[in-house]
Amino acid sequence: VKIGTPKEVFEGENRVAMTPDSARQLQKLGYDCLIETGAGEKAGFSDALYEEAGVTVIKTPAALWKEADIVAKVRQPDGGELKRLREGQTLISFFNPAANEEGMEAAKKKGANVIAMEMVPRISRAQKMDALSSMANIAGYRAVIEAGNNFGRFFTGQVTAAGKVPPAKVLVVGAGVAGLAAIGTSTSLGAITYAFDVRPEVAEQVESMGAEFVFLDFEEEQQDGSATGGYASVSSPEFAAAQLAKFRELAPDIDIVITTALIPNREAPELWTKDMVESMKPGSVIVDLAAEKGGNCKLTVKDEKIVTDNGVTIIGYTDFPSRMATQASNLYATNIRHMMTDLTPEKDGQIVHNMEDDVIRGATVTYEKEITFPPPPPKVQ
Ligand code: NAD
Repeated sequence: VKIGTPKEVFEGENRVAMTPDSARQLQKLGYDCLIETGAGEKAGFSDALYEEAGVTVIKTPAALWKEADIVAKVRQPDGGELKRLREGQTLISFFNPAANEEGMEAAKKKGANVIAMEMVPRISRAQKMDALSSMANIAGYRAVIEAGNNFGRFFTGQVTAAGKVPPAKVLVVGAGVAGLAAIGTSTSLGAITYAFDVRPEVAEQVESMGAEFVFLDFEEEQQDGSATGGYASVSSPEFAAAQLAKFRELAPDIDIVITTALIPNREAPELWTKDMVESMKPGSVIVDLAAEKGGNCKLTVKDEKIVTDNGVTIIGYTDFPSRMATQASNLYATNIRHMMTDLTPEKDGQIVHNMEDDVIRGATVTYEKEITFPPPPPKVQ
C-alpha cells in the first residue's frame, strides 16, 4: 500500500505533509512512500533527501494522485485536486468540512475517505495528531518574532554604557494554544508580558509562564467566559465593555499587542478598537493572529502589514506556520504519521479505517460514499 504526498498547490504555501523522517516511520508501518518532485523544496527537504530515506520521487501530480492509495497533504484540496480523488482512496489533510461543500460532495461522489485534520478531537489520547495545536504553537511563537522584527527596540531591559533601555511591554490577548506560545516566547525574550483571556482558569498557566494575568474590574462570577470543551463563548455586553475599558487604559503604555482571541464558528471578537490604536506610541506593533476570521483589531488588513498615521505597525498575516516551513512541516508530518499509526494497528501496511474509534471517527468527514460530518459527540473525554 502506497502513501504519497503531492506538492502543495496553494499560492505561497511552503509546508509539506511528509518529511524524510516521517517517511522512515511510515515505512516501519509497512507503507511504501511517494513524494512529488520538489514537494519539500521550500521546507528544506530536497528530492535527494527523500530518496535517501527510501521514498520514490514521482514526476507529476497526476501520477502521484493515481499511484497513491493514501494521500497526505497540508491545505484543503483545490478543484483540480478534488478531480483526482478516486474510489477507495484515503485523503488525510486539512479540509475545512464546515465550509467546503464542494470538497465534501466531490469526495462523497468519488468514494474517497477523507480524514480532516482540523476535526481531530481535542482529547489527551489524540494530542499527538492535533495539527491545529501544533500549527497554533508555531503561529504564537512566530507572531512574537515578527513583532520583534518590526519593533525598533530590545525586548529585555538593559543598563549599558550607552544608556538605560526600558523593557518592552507586551500584551497577549487570548491565552489558548497560540496565545500561550506567544506568552512563553515573549517572556523568554525578556519582555514584561501581560495576558488576558475570558477564561479565568488560564490565569494560573499565564502566571506560571512569568506573565501577569490582567483581571477586570468585574464581579468574579461574571468573569466566566468559558463554554463547553475549553472554548470561549460570546461575552455579555457588560463584560465586553469592562474588557474594552481595561484595554483602553493599557493601550498607551503597551509596545506590542498579540491578539489571538477566537470563538468557535464565529467571526473574531473585535477587541482592539481604532481609538486604542490611536492612543498607542509610535513604533508600537500589533500582530493579529485572528486576521483569518476578521481580526481582533479593527484596523487589521488580512494578509498585509500596514503602518497607521500615528506610526503603529499592524500585521495581519495568516500564514505564520508556512513562514516557518521546516518546523511546521516536521510537526505536521509527525501529526500525520501518528494518525497513520492509529490507522495501522498491525503495522503491516494495511489501513484499518475503524469507525468505532472515537478519534478516527471524529476526524472522518466522508466514508464509503457517505458524508460523515459532523461526527457524533465523542464517548470518552
Ligand atoms: P481558540 O483558538 O478557539 O481561541 C483562542 C483563545 O481566545 C481562547 O483561549 C479563548 O478563550 C480566547 N478568547 C475568546 N474570546 C476572547 C475575548 N473576548 N477576549 C480574550 N480572549 C478571548 O482556542 P484554542 O487555542 O484552540 O484552545 C481552546 C481550548 O482548547 C483551550 O482550553 C485549550 O487548552 C484546549 N485544548 C485542548 C487540547 C487537548 O486536550 N488535546 C488541545 C488543544 C487545545
